[in-house]
Amino acid sequence: MENGLLLVLSAPSGCGKTTILKRVMQDLPGLVFSVSHTTRQPRPGEIDGVHYHFIEAATFTAIRTRPPAGFLEWAEVHGNMYGTSVDEVEKHRRAGNDVILDIDVQGAAQVRQRAEPVTIFIAPPSLAELECRLRGRGTESEATIALRLNNARKELACSGSYDYLIVNDRLDEAVASLRSIIIAERCRQRRTLSGRQAHWNS
Ligand code: ADP
Ligand code: 5GP
Repeated sequence: MENGLLLVLSAPSGCGKTTILKRVMQDLPGLVFSVSHTTRQPRPGEIDGVHYHFIEAATFTAIRTRPPAGFLEWAEVHGNMYGTSVDEVEKHRRAGNDVILDIDVQGAAQVRQRAEPVTIFIAPPSLAELECRLRGRGTESEATIALRLNNARKELACSGSYDYLIVNDRLDEAVASLRSIIIAERCRQRRTLSGRQAHWNS
């Protein structure tokens, strides 16, 4: 069986990445979300093991330093540590599922060095609209909003390193774009041809 795709999705916080991903995952079978580890405190409604594995800093360090590699990538984002477990990603890919990582630009750069991901950046229509969405979500303090907006400028400067760019202006269109990208990547010749040829020749 062919290993599943490794998809990397990055976006400044508040852009709508979670909203888009939830909609795409509802109607695309075979797509699995990689649950990251973080030292951040859970927000109201967030469930341990579903949204994140919420862990202490000491546990994070133990996984990070575990040989040969506990994390495929890890980074400090907005003052908290985040990481993607190698075991979790490989387990899903070996089962033939496509795995989607919701990680920041630092993490995406690390994954590009270690694997062959398909990378997708989601951008807001403007920084003013991003600020509105962050406030509208109602989960962040004023200080955190300022920090996240400041980081957004730096993250947007990295968007050119990604394979695909989606501007999340109209939600329905952004959802359709992400869905189409994943479907097109699944149809790439290099992924499908060897298995097909064996089937045709049998
Ligand atoms: P992220 O996961 O990127 O931090 P969220 O998915 O939590 O962002 O979205 C942030 C806020 O913006 C939410 O309140 C969400 O409902 C809203 N939102 C998402 N996409 C759009 C859109 N295209 N137009 C207007 N509001 C949106
Ligand atoms: P939030 O705290 O809003 O859930 O996420 C903040 C940022 O951390 C987002 O940009 C998100 O993509 C990023 N992030 C979440 N999990 C990981 C991870 O495992 N690794 C890295 N590098 N970034 C992550």
